[in-house]
Amino acid sequence: MREVYLDIIGVDGSKQYGCNLCSMLLGEAVLLDAGSASMLSGSQQQNVEMVLLTHAHLDHVLELGFMIDATVAIRDEPLRVMGSRACLEIVRKHYMNDLIWPDFSRIKTTSGPTLVYEEMEDRKWFQLPGGISAWAEPVCHGAGARGFIFRTSTGSMLHTGDTGPTFSIWKKAAEIDDLRIILAEISFPDSREDTAIASNHLTPSLLEVELNKLDRPDIPVYAFHLKPWDRHEIEKDVARRFRDRVVILRRGDRLEF
Ligand SMILES: [Zn+2]
Ligand SMILES: [Zn+2]
Repeated sequence: MREVYLDIIGVDGSKQYGCNLCSMLLGEAVLLDAGSASMLSGSQQQNVEMVLLTHAHLDHVLELGFMIDATVAIRDEPLRVMGSRACLEIVRKHYMNDLIWPDFSRIKTTSGPTLVYEEMEDRKWFQLPGGISAWAEPVCHGAGARGFIFRTSTGSMLHTGDTGPTFSIWKKAAEIDDLRIILAEISFPDSREDTAIASNHLTPSLLEVELNKLDRPDIPVYAFHLKPWDRHEIEKDVARRFRDRVVILRRGDRLEF
């Protein structure tokens, strides 16, 4: 089987000029988080069958509404929006609620509903479009946050989602023999550890502690979710602490696993 790719559409931890919020294409049919969904071309958006949400914070769901708006007329099948129960409740109640944006799950075309919500079960393998299996693990963050392990016949990838220091996802990852890639969040520099802890995020120093829980130094680590105004300081912290083991992701990168 061909390797599955992860195309990086956006990885920034906040919105400023030139920054793109978190969105990654897992194959062509799964969009992991919708912070920058509008950066996809029309045909790319049309090919997305499912938006898989790590959690409901605005930087991860912002452009979900624009994406469904742009593709509603050309979809044969409803857009599947998957997340934890808490995540989907927040999206439905506070975003796609017929107040701030239409409730597309109640809008039907001649071919049926335009959007369907699908709650995923924690700690159970489930199938995504494109022959990918996924495992959702609760992590230490708000808004129904989950981290994921994605598995194909050629290898597996861990994606922490937004999280502060946590444990169970590293324990699960340790069971995965063919783990080939780790995507881990870093939001703040070491000098702002208090802020990171208070907001359930990581610094390079905190990530080092997390990676020691897994103890697999052979696996490359890719960092995402840097706060744009702290990027240079984080880059220096990462270079000093990890040398080349941790690579900071950029828009346009492609990872294969
Ligand atoms: Zn968050
Ligand atoms: Zn975030």
